[in-house]
Amino acid sequence: MNTAIYPGSFDPITFGHLDIIKRSSKLFEKLIIGVLNNSQKKSLFTIDERVSMIKDVVKDLDNVYVLPFTGLTIDFARSCDARVIIRGLRAVTDFEYELQIAQTNRVEYPEIETLFLTTDLKYSYLSSTVVREFASYGGDITKFVPEEIIPLIKDKYK
Ligand code: ADP
Repeated sequence: MNTAIYPGSFDPITFGHLDIIKRSSKLFEKLIIGVLNNSQKKSLFTIDERVSMIKDVVKDLDNVYVLPFTGLTIDFARSCDARVIIRGLRAVTDFEYELQIAQTNRVEYPEIETLFLTTDLKYSYLSSTVVREFASYGGDITKFVPEEIIPLIKDKYK
C-alpha cells in the first residue's frame, strides 16, 4: 500500500483537487497524479499544459509526482505499481458514477482498491467546470485555483 495514484482531467487543477492531493500524500509514501489524456474529450488545456501546471502547484510536496496517461485508469495504476486509486467525493451526484467505475475496476483487478476522500466542505461546490465558466466571463477565480495558474487560465479566454 505504498503507492497511490490520483487520476483525473484537472482541466484546470483547483483548490478542491489540491486539498485531496495534500491529504492523500500524507497517507502514502508516494502519490502519483495521473493526468488523463482523453482524445474524445475536448479540454481547455493540452495534456502538456495540465501536467506542467500541476507540477508547478505541487512542487513543494516531496512525495508527489505527476504523469500523463491514456487509456484505462486501472492499467495506469498497474504501470505505476500502485494498489490504490484515490478519488474525491463532493456530493451524492458524484457517488453513483464513482461507485460504478470503482466496482467495474474491482471486477477487473480486485487487488487494486479505490479509496474515496470526502471533499473539504469549503470546496464542495468547486469543479474545473465552474472555474472555466467563471473565467470565461472574466470572473474572479482567486478563491478557486492556485495563484500561479491564474494568468494561464486568463490567457485562454483573452
Ligand atoms: P474526472 O474527469 O476524472 O472526474 P476531475 O479533474 O474532474 O476528473 O476530478 C478528479 C478527481 O477529483 C475526481 O475524483 C473528483 O471527484 C475529484 N474532485 C474534483 N473537484 C473536487 C473538489 N472540489 N473536492 C474534492 N474532490 C474533487
